[in-house]
Amino acid sequence: MVWKPSEKEEEYFARMEFERRKKLEEEKHGKLKGEDKKRQKELHYMRCPKCGMELIEIDYKGVKVDKCSECEGVWLDAGELEAISRFENNVLVKFFSVFKK
Ligand SMILES: [Zn+2]
Repeated sequence: MVWKPSEKEEEYFARMEFERRKKLEEEKHGKLKGEDKKRQKELHYMRCPKCGMELIEIDYKGVKVDKCSECEGVWLDAGELEAISRFENNVLVKFFSVFKK
């Protein structure tokens, strides 16, 4: 028999992995001085984290989603994932179909 992690376990491990990596990143941020942080923000604001091109903000059902003009990646701001996760399943499908080609 092959052991398969349950959904709950997978969720737990993904969360643990995120927390572990977040801590590492926070340690790195701590070393950045205020000026450096400001410069980083100016450089990257509304830029795609994957390809560096401009993001286009789309407002749909009160949720602002940033979509990359180049690679079509879709990005959510803090709190927006929670907002869309409260949508009904069919609304969620429609929500993402807006961003499909
Ligand atoms: Zn991109």
